[in-house]
Amino acid sequence: MSTALNLDQSTSPIEAADPAVFAAISEEQRRQVEGLELIASENYTSEAILAAAGTVLTNKYAEGYPGRRYYGGCEHVDVIENLARDRAKELFTAEHANVQPHAGSQANMAVFMTALEPGDTFLAMDLAHGGHLTHGMRLNISGKYFNAVHYGVREDDQRIDFDQVARLAREHKPKLIIAGASAYPREIDHPKFAEIASEVGAKLMVDMAHYSGLVAARVHNNPAEVADFVTSTSHKTLRGPRSGFVLCRSEYQKDIDRNVFPGLQGGPLMHVVAAKAICFQEALQPSFRTYVEQVVANAQALAATLTAGGLKLTSGGTDNHLMLCDVTGFGFGGKVAEEALDRAGITCNKNMIPYDTRKPMDPSGVRFGSAALTTRGMKEAEMQQVGGWILDVLRNVDNEDAVARICEAIRELTADFPVPGIR
Ligand SMILES: *Cc1c(COP(=O)(O)O)cnc(C)c1O
Repeated sequence: MSTALNLDQSTSPIEAADPAVFAAISEEQRRQVEGLELIASENYTSEAILAAAGTVLTNKYAEGYPGRRYYGGCEHVDVIENLARDRAKELFTAEHANVQPHAGSQANMAVFMTALEPGDTFLAMDLAHGGHLTHGMRLNISGKYFNAVHYGVREDDQRIDFDQVARLAREHKPKLIIAGASAYPREIDHPKFAEIASEVGAKLMVDMAHYSGLVAARVHNNPAEVADFVTSTSHKTLRGPRSGFVLCRSEYQKDIDRNVFPGLQGGPLMHVVAAKAICFQEALQPSFRTYVEQVVANAQALAATLTAGGLKLTSGGTDNHLMLCDVTGFGFGGKVAEEALDRAGITCNKNMIPYDTRKPMDPSGVRFGSAALTTRGMKEAEMQQVGGWILDVLRNVDNEDAVARICEAIRELTADFPVPGIR
């Protein structure tokens, strides 16, 4: 069974059933193959993971947990969920794992329901400094039902301001402190967060959604060693299917499980749980560490090229898979940059930079990540080439001929670096 589409033949059951959807999927596949994927939160899964997500497991209801289901016929999906849980625990040396959250946001909500009552205070990173929507943004349930207080990074070096974290923790006495971010290019000092949480009697949640692959490979320190709760997505640097999971100490096992189901969700997506089981298994292999080390080396190579070309990087560089670049030196904001890069076949996202004076819809920065290109087998030399193209596009945003030439060169390069599962 293969879920990948063969663009040259019309043998897909999807095409027979629904030509309109098939055509759009084909075009998306072409985009993923021909372009340069630099969105920091995206990756390419293995062919096995892609296939697992397209199996008959999508037909199965499995409310409850292995051995305690509300439906019959769960003996096989129980095997799968137990494999996923055991592998997640092994991978992160965690006491308990819940692999049912449909996404990272649901994983975070499960912890909120476990550690907080509506109206309670939590302390988390400001969205404008690299935090996430689910860390207390006004329109998100985390901001509506709870009292969110935010810390940020220092203005001078754009590193997390631990003096501010400690001051806000003492002043607001939050029940929960959250570490973890979506646009922070440096390794996070989880033990330091644990120290502050313990001083003020708060529980610590680490949301490692972006860098869980780096943690799995032990390239970054493991938050499961110091936090009460760890949440993550499985589809960013961990390179699994689009989904989420929660790790916690045994003492919270019952509450976390109850708050995922029936607290937040009905039946788990067993095809995605199976894909997560395979993802954890892949991440346990020595080759995954090699991959992650290359992700970091590639990010540093790209960062060096962009810096040499005149882009200012938040915090001056990167320790992980991502970087945040101030493009305003070129005379425009992130919106123009994102659109011009898109026309050249380079996909990224505009992003606020810390202390940004521009608006979220046209901020000062763009964010790049190296995880997806590294999966295609690109190394430092290719990253230098990619960095050169990014700079070329930014210097030529109004020159469609130049952008078209870069697009053509990118197509030639990407032809040599296959996407897993697509022939
Ligand atoms: C991506 C991300 C999430 C949530 O991911 P979804 O799967 O899109 O719900 C949560 N927290 C952080 C820090 C993230 O970067």
